Amino acid sequence: MAGTGGSPAERLGLIPASMVAGQAFCEYKVHLETLRGGVARSAGLARRITRRVVIRDRRGVLARASVLGEVLGVPVAASPDFVVLGSDGSIHGVGRSAIRGSLRIFESDIVYLRLAGLLVWGRGDGGRLVMVVAGSEGCLKEVLDGLSSSGRIAPSGGECYRLYVEVYDAGRALDTLAPLLEYWRGLRPPRPSPSRSKCGVCPFGAECEFSAV
Ligand code: SF4
Repeated sequence: MAGTGGSPAERLGLIPASMVAGQAFCEYKVHLETLRGGVARSAGLARRITRRVVIRDRRGVLARASVLGEVLGVPVAASPDFVVLGSDGSIHGVGRSAIRGSLRIFESDIVYLRLAGLLVWGRGDGGRLVMVVAGSEGCLKEVLDGLSSSGRIAPSGGECYRLYVEVYDAGRALDTLAPLLEYWRGLRPPRPSPSRSKCGVCPFGAECEFSAV
């Protein structure tokens, strides 16, 4: 149960991977969210589409999953949009999806996937971390259908999509996560990352002492 004192992790109890990923945007924003008791994040369009495709799939190549565990002493939970299963039922890949006109992969996507990888595979060998970014709903469905029917995980791209694939590496994932989790362990104060573009779209833009707008 979340308490009122101690580190941010102790106060919240279980940290959603989306909050850790959010530190790549601005850690101070995440900190302000924790002071409000966390943020209820609704499933976006891409996630809803992905889950529909996953549910429709009959071969069990793709399935939705939630994973939780401790990473460097911090209890964390992640819900990848899909997992890719091998014929023996082992997990070959974990993935996320998004609909973005720019087809950009953000640092927060990579943080989320590496954290999910640590929860699924730990310090051992793993599979692939997959990010599907599509420019439209129809294109996302097409890419997911292709991934679902072939079960093949390889980077690719087209006019309306980008499929990013990274081979899971536990050491690299820990290198990425360790400095971010220091905040949750209460080892240092939150770091603001002010910029006009970020603070301009931040819900705390008007009240944050570090705001650039
Ligand atoms: S206003 Fe800017 S510095 Fe403050 S929390 Fe938001 S993004 Fe971070």
